[in-house]
Amino acid sequence: MTGSRLFALLGWPVEHSLSPAIHGAAFRELGIDASYVLLPVREEELNGVLPAVARAGGGNITVPHKESAARLVDRPADDVRRTGACNCFWAEGDEVAGDNTDVGGFRAAVEAWQEARLPGSRILLLGAGGAARAVVAACRDAGAESVEIWNRTTRRARDLVRSSGDATAGSGTALSVLESRWDAVGSYDLVVNATSLGLEPDDPLPLDLTDVEAAAVFDLVYGRDGTPWTRHAGGLGLPARDGLEMLVRQAGLSLRRWLDVEPPIGPMLDAARSAAGRGEG
Ligand code: NAP
Repeated sequence: MTGSRLFALLGWPVEHSLSPAIHGAAFRELGIDASYVLLPVREEELNGVLPAVARAGGGNITVPHKESAARLVDRPADDVRRTGACNCFWAEGDEVAGDNTDVGGFRAAVEAWQEARLPGSRILLLGAGGAARAVVAACRDAGAESVEIWNRTTRRARDLVRSSGDATAGSGTALSVLESRWDAVGSYDLVVNATSLGLEPDDPLPLDLTDVEAAAVFDLVYGRDGTPWTRHAGGLGLPARDGLEMLVRQAGLSLRRWLDVEPPIGPMLDAARSAAGRGEG
């Protein structure tokens, strides 16, 4: 590889992102001459910025632009088409290609965890936004038995099931919508929070885990000491993971797309933990 490459995270806001630390660790480990910067971009600027950054190296997209980016890229990967969201882009000739590495990132994070598995599992999913779409796609890819979705806005959960069903016809995973959180009965192998609850200190828990029978808990939100919900799960003796490893795994998949390299997950995880203010572990 010749010359320094530039990669960027486009979003609004972007300043609290751990991605520069994660990718910086990967570039150092791999001996790649590149930098990763944060670029606050408004919706109306995305169309112009996306191709320029793609030509410089590539980048990631975060809130609130993932859906807009899915519409703007010239070459959307399958995971962009079926989720309607794009979080990773790069140049292919004169065109911009895009992928949604949250799908593989979620799957890889669960697969790296001893306490849970997706194949054949009964999953309760909280939320129906962009991240929930990625979780549904990953669960279907991995052959989960079922995904029951509860969302504050039920119509959005119905839309998710309708579009996921169309886009992944042939999957054996049963998708259904719960009208109320009290409809979450029976036992779940994994309960997943894909709402944004937990980002703010005063947020309520996404779900009181004494109300369901759960074997393991995965929160897409992450924090310095896990999240309020993973701590709640831990207090009940349930194995729980927050979204930090998913963040690292999606970053690793982005590196593969940009540079066709094997991501150094260990050093990337260490960098993420340290940037999040955590000790080793
Ligand atoms: P989004 O599209 O804006 O969706 C937000 C979701 O949260 C919706 O289901 C929304 O419900 C729900 N929600 C928001 N406020 C709520 C409240 N007060 N009570 C109940 N539900 C509420 O966001 P997203 O892109 O899906 O992201 C969701 C979360 O996943 C964010 O915290 C994000 O940081 C995290 N995430 C993590 C990773 C990772 O790598 N770890 C990757 C992607 C996303 P309504 O539909 O009713 O509004």
